[in-house]
Amino acid sequence: AKALGRGVYCFYSEEMTQGARERLEMEARLRAALAQGHLQLFYQPQVEIASGRIVGAEALVRWLDPDEGLIPPARFIPVAEMSGVIGALGQWVMREACRQGQQWRAAGLPELRIAVNVSPREFHLTDVAACAAQALQDSGFPARCLELELTEGALAERPEEARQTLLRLQEVGVHIAVDDFGTGYSSLAHLKRFPIDVLKIDQGFTRDVPHSADDMAISAAIIAMGQRLGLRVLAEGVETAQQLQFLREHGCDLYQGYLCSRPLPAQEFEALLRAGP
Ligand code: C2E
Ligand code: CA
Ligand code: CA
Ligand code: CA
Repeated sequence: AKALGRGVYCFYSEEMTQGARERLEMEARLRAALAQGHLQLFYQPQVEIASGRIVGAEALVRWLDPDEGLIPPARFIPVAEMSGVIGALGQWVMREACRQGQQWRAAGLPELRIAVNVSPREFHLTDVAACAAQALQDSGFPARCLELELTEGALAERPEEARQTLLRLQEVGVHIAVDDFGTGYSSLAHLKRFPIDVLKIDQGFTRDVPHSADDMAISAAIIAMGQRLGLRVLAEGVETAQQLQFLREHGCDLYQGYLCSRPLPAQEFEALLRAGP
C-alpha cells in the first residue's frame, strides 16, 4: 500500500511537472515571439448597419510562428494570462493598434474606431488607463478612436476597483465596450454602475438567428435594453443576410462577422477600406 501510495504520488507529481514544463516552455516561446516581432494584429471590420459603412475595427492578435505558422489566440492568451506575460502582450497590442490607427489617419482614410481586447487578468494586473494614455500620446492616435473591450467577468471581479479604472479610462477619453455580453452574470447591475459605451452581443446569441426563438428573444431584448440605456449595441458573429436583417429590424447599431469579412492583416483591411462599402 505504501509503494502504491508513493507510486500514485509520483505519477501525479510527474504529470504536474510536465504540465508546468509545457506551460513554461510556451511562456518562454511567447516572450521570444513578442521580442522578435512575431505577433501581429489582424483587423475585423465593424459595420454601421444603417449605412453599411465600416466605422471601426476590432484588433485581434495572431502569433506567426516561423515553423508552426499562424497560432490562434485561444492557444496562447490563456498561457499569457496564467504566466503574467499578458501584461507585456497587452501593452504591445495597445501600442500597435494605436500606431496602425494613426498610420491610417495619416494616409487620409476615413476615421475609424479601433477596439482592443483587454483580458480580465490584464485589467486587474496592469494600469490599463496609464497604458492607454501612454500609447495614445506616443502614437498621436485620438482617444475617442480607441475602444477597450472588457468582459463582464473582468468587471465582476473586484467591481469597485474596476469602476475606478473605468472612470479613469473615461477621463482619458477612450470608449468602453462590454464583450461577450449576455454570457456573464449580474450584467444589469454593472451597466448601471459603470461608464459603458457599447454592448457587444455574444456570437452565441447571433448564431442561431433566425432558427432559435430563444436566441432571437434574447438578442432583441439586449438591443432594446441597450437603446434605452443610450448605449451602442454591436452584434458579433454575423454570418448571414437573414441575421443582419433581423438585427436591422430590431434597431441594432453595428455588426461584426464573416458576412462582412474575417479578421484581416492590416494591409488587406486597408484595401477593403479603400474599396468602399
Ligand atoms: P473575442 O474578443 O470574442 O473575438 C471574436 C472572435 O470571433 C475572434 O476570434 C473572431 O475571429 C471570431 N469571429 C469573428 N466573426 C466571426 C463570425 O462571423 N463567425 C465566427 N464563428 N467567428 C467569428 P479570434 O481572433 O480567434 O479570437 C478569439 C479570442 O481571443 C477573442 O474573442 C479574445 O477573447 C481573445 N483575443 C484575441 N485577440 C486578443 C488580444 O489582442 N488581447 C486579448 N487579451 N485577447 C485577445
Ligand atoms: Ca472582443
Ligand atoms: Ca466577443
Ligand atoms: Ca470571447
